[in-house]
Amino acid sequence: MTQPSTSNDQAPEPQPAASPLTRLGEAKWLLLAALFAALAAVIFYDVPSSSAFAFLVILCVVAGFIPRRTASRRVKLNAQREIRRMWPGTGMKVTLDALPTPCFVADGRGITRYVNQQAQVTYEGVKPGDPLSFSLRAPSLLEAFDRVCATGEAERISWIEKVPTETWYEAHIAPIYMPGNAVPDRMPGLPDFILVVIQDLTENRRLERMRTDFVANASHELRTPLASLTGFIETLQGPARNDPEAQDRFLSIMLDQAGRMRRLIDDILSLSRIELKAHVRPVSTVDFAEIIRHTADALSPLAADLDVEIRVHLPDLPVRIKGDRDELIQVTENLIENALKYGHDGQFVDVELAEQIEAEDHTWQMSVRDYGAGIPPEHLPRLTERFYRVDVESSRAMKGTGLGLAIVKHILTRHRGRLEVESEAGKGATFKINLPASESAETASVVTPA
Ligand code: ADP
Repeated sequence: MTQPSTSNDQAPEPQPAASPLTRLGEAKWLLLAALFAALAAVIFYDVPSSSAFAFLVILCVVAGFIPRRTASRRVKLNAQREIRRMWPGTGMKVTLDALPTPCFVADGRGITRYVNQQAQVTYEGVKPGDPLSFSLRAPSLLEAFDRVCATGEAERISWIEKVPTETWYEAHIAPIYMPGNAVPDRMPGLPDFILVVIQDLTENRRLERMRTDFVANASHELRTPLASLTGFIETLQGPARNDPEAQDRFLSIMLDQAGRMRRLIDDILSLSRIELKAHVRPVSTVDFAEIIRHTADALSPLAADLDVEIRVHLPDLPVRIKGDRDELIQVTENLIENALKYGHDGQFVDVELAEQIEAEDHTWQMSVRDYGAGIPPEHLPRLTERFYRVDVESSRAMKGTGLGLAIVKHILTRHRGRLEVESEAGKGATFKINLPASESAETASVVTPA
């Protein structure tokens, strides 16, 4: 709880209590007038003198013993009221405006006193003078606000709003005490104003959820081959102990499963390495055309196995872009390999690199096109999620980990690139990546078959 300030020079000095005699002296003219009025009432209106005397005694007791505000005290109280009326002042307002989160200042009755700039952007139409509940409608927030007004103790609460999209918020509601907190019309110890600071936690919560989902998925992916390995080891130790033929078969399956675990661990490590440098843009200059040619050559044995021809169309000059060679090889490899694995029915995979100039945007676009089964449209938005597969069985059969496109997306983010996927079921798929052209690049604009 915020303690009432005592150090401020605006705090009123405690006044010594006036004695009854002093108070009688201060009220002498009033008492004298009352005395004359009482005498007149007795003389001219036959009021009993005992009643007039009793009236004068009561008046003296009231004047002498009941505390009254002195003129200087009245001035101080009025000054305090004025400070409260004008608060928050310019200093406080500019400070609140400098904060990146929406902030509201309200008085103890819930009337908005100030709304910082960020709050005006987030909650359109909110203005000082309106009840806080006009702009902040979450019941738990308003209840917490009332509690802070009543107890003077700060609170932190969080809530979820479901409409229009799921959003997590957290609010810090803090009491504000004016200097000395000796403000009229307010019980001592209770806040004069309340500060409400609201934070949008949606991004953090999503990241947390992604992290926990990732750990759960990765463990699940590893557990399957591990269970299979354990099963085969037990079989080799028991029933297949003396069966060399079964041993050969089981050992080759175990090798496959171990390979699957290795690929998965390699991809997980690769993803976390890329994430670590997500904000560091590569500085070296590489020849993107050469990288594509190199990858296509490296994948030619797989293409031959799957009976697919890779047709490469590249510019005849080097295409220089800022990039990390190993990571760009990973990108091109994942895309061409996917086209071979999932689109081998189409017999051809076309890989093309072309320059694109749109207004200020100068990029090099690599497209990888296959003519296989394609991807149904409902899967397209989720393809780059970790462990997302259109068909789990065919991915496993093709030694996929479900992390390839997630790795592609992360590498492209680091390279300020973008990925687009176009596909129609039955007509193959085209994966396009755009990478910014290097400013000093020697551009090649003629596209010829490699
Ligand atoms: P995987 O390791 O399973 O290949 P990816 O992240 O590379 O994982 O791809 C995710 C999924 O997207 C694949 O499992 C596959 O279902 C689908 N996919 C990727 N590329 C293609 C393609 N060219 N044609 C059809 N489906 C594809």
